[in-house]
Amino acid sequence: MSDNSLRLVWVYPDLLSTYGDQGNVLVVERRARQRGLDVQRLDVRSDQAIPTSGDIYLIGGGEDRPQRLAAERLIRDGGLHRAVENGAIVFSVCAGYQILGHQFVNDLGEQQEGLGLLDVVSTRGEGARCVGDVLADIDPKLGLPPLTGFENHQGVTHLGETAKPFAKVRFGNGNGVGDGYEGAYNDTVFGTYMHGPVMARNPHIADLLIKLALDVNALPSVEDRWYEALRQERIAAATQPA
Ligand code: GLN
Repeated sequence: MSDNSLRLVWVYPDLLSTYGDQGNVLVVERRARQRGLDVQRLDVRSDQAIPTSGDIYLIGGGEDRPQRLAAERLIRDGGLHRAVENGAIVFSVCAGYQILGHQFVNDLGEQQEGLGLLDVVSTRGEGARCVGDVLADIDPKLGLPPLTGFENHQGVTHLGETAKPFAKVRFGNGNGVGDGYEGAYNDTVFGTYMHGPVMARNPHIADLLIKLALDVNALPSVEDRWYEALRQERIAAATQPA
C-alpha cells in the first residue's frame, strides 16, 4: 500500500453478509478514516474477480447454500490466495471462517474443500445449534480486551497445528469442539464465529487489522464511548443470561 491509503475489500456481499456483518466494513472504514487514511472500499460480488492488491479483506457469515457457492467461486477465482501471498490481511466470520479452512460440511451434507488459508477443519456439530452471546479472552499476544460477540452456527471447527486459537471462551461455545477455543488465526488470516457485528462490539480488532496493514505498532486514539457502552451491555447479556 502507498503511505496514506488503505484498500478495503468486502468479499461477496451478495452471498456472505448475514447478521449485519457488513457493519465490520463500516467500522474498519470509519476508524481508518478517523486516523486520516485515504480509504478505498471495494464491494466485490460473487460474479466479479477478487482484486489481489487489497490491504484488508473482510468476509461475513452466510447460510449453508451461499456458503457452498462462495467457497467454489473463491477457489476458482484464486484472487484471495494471491492477495494473502502478497501479505494482505483477511478477517472472516462464521461461514467465511469455515470457508478459509481446509474443509467444511456443506448444505448437501458433503465434506467440501475450503481455501486452506487457515489450518482448521469444520464439521457439523452433533449437538444443538450454538446460539447466543459469547464472552472470550483474546490471545494475550494480540493485546486486545475481551471479545464480545453473538454466535449462531451448526458447524464446529477443529484447529490444526499451525492455527492459533483467537480466543478462549468464558461464556458461550465458540468453535464448539470442547477445547474452549473461539476462532483461529495465523500471521495475517483471522477467523471467528462472532457476529455482532463483531467490529462494532470490539473496535480494537478493527484497529489491529489497520495496524497490521500499515505495519505500525500504534494508532492515534479515537472516541470509543459509544463502542464501550455497547460492549458493556452485550458483556452483561452474555454473563447474566435471562
Ligand atoms: N452455515 C454455517 C453453520 O451453520 C455458518 C452459519 C453462519 O455463517 N451464521 O455453521
